[in-house]
Amino acid sequence: DFLDRGNADPQITVCVRKRPMNKKEVDIKEVDIVSVPDKQRIILHEPKLKVDLTKYLENQQFRFDFAFDENCNNEVVYHCTARPLVRTLFEGGMATCFAYGQTGSGKTHTMGGEFLGKNQNCGNGIYVLTATDVFKKILQPKYRDLQLKVSASFFEIYSGKVFDLLNGKAKLRVLEDGKQQVQVVGLSEKTVDSVDQVLDLIRHGSRMRTSGQTAANANSSRSHAVFQIILRAGAGSRLHGKFSLVDLAGNERGADTNSSDRQTRMEGSEINKSLLALKECIRALGRRGSHLPFRASKLTQVLKDSFVGEKSRTCMIAMISPGMSSCEHSLNTLRYADRVKEL
Ligand code: ADP
Ligand code: MG
Repeated sequence: DFLDRGNADPQITVCVRKRPMNKKEVDIKEVDIVSVPDKQRIILHEPKLKVDLTKYLENQQFRFDFAFDENCNNEVVYHCTARPLVRTLFEGGMATCFAYGQTGSGKTHTMGGEFLGKNQNCGNGIYVLTATDVFKKILQPKYRDLQLKVSASFFEIYSGKVFDLLNGKAKLRVLEDGKQQVQVVGLSEKTVDSVDQVLDLIRHGSRMRTSGQTAANANSSRSHAVFQIILRAGAGSRLHGKFSLVDLAGNERGADTNSSDRQTRMEGSEINKSLLALKECIRALGRRGSHLPFRASKLTQVLKDSFVGEKSRTCMIAMISPGMSSCEHSLNTLRYADRVKEL
């Protein structure tokens, strides 16, 4: 019973999703400080102390295009976020959908669904739900004449470097040509004919993502994963449209800039830089003609073609952990999402 936006086709959609408390949080009696009173509002009840040391809650309210509470499943989230952008893809546009939030807030659960997340009963995620709709839509008579072909790429951006998850994690170069087109040189693009083939690619790529990591196996929280569904048209395989689905690095990592470990500090500042640049690039999308700082990070550079052009559409889903111990990170996430939305 989520709002039907009819024919509205906003350039930017910003949503929040609150995940349920997990067993561990329930066991330690973690307090849920987040409420979702209706389909657009989310309130964070921040515990505070007065000068006389009495406790009180400061309510911080935010409004978004959609607010999903802990009872919403991936299907509902997909319906309101990525699904409307499948049309953009078929109409020859560039679409992006970002999962943003702290580590453990549900980014991979939302994007990858049951076979990437640790939860085995949560249904498909946005990657697979999007692919399913793409294969349905391609059969429609109005798109038949375009002779569209579906392909997919999957890569990871880690510490400012790009790795091909569909080709043994090969390190790739990013170049900007004379026409200001950004290219990821040698990025694999696999033709896919069915949802099952897409599933195989995602499985394979995700295994790549988590393998080969030694001590630093919290790696996935420090990297951005970009899964792209590409439509090419006609005998010449001209690019028709591209849908980038991005599982962002944990935003708390941006604060690692004070770490005593040099590597961690560098990764933190790279993540910080990319998330700030991302915010500015999305905002610029809604304000035509404004400065696009896409060169400020590898993430925004490789997504440049998604931030330009009349037909670009983007959606951000900000994930929120409900517990009191996540309060500060949750507030940061909500403020960031709020800034993305505000033009
Ligand atoms: P992230 O990718 O943001 O670090 P995950 O997607 O791995 O976080 O989620 C952390 C844990 O919480 C996983 O065990 C996941 O299954 C669970 N989880 C996240 N969101 C939900 C949700 N909406 N419903 C049920 N479980 C969830
Ligand atoms: Mg994850």
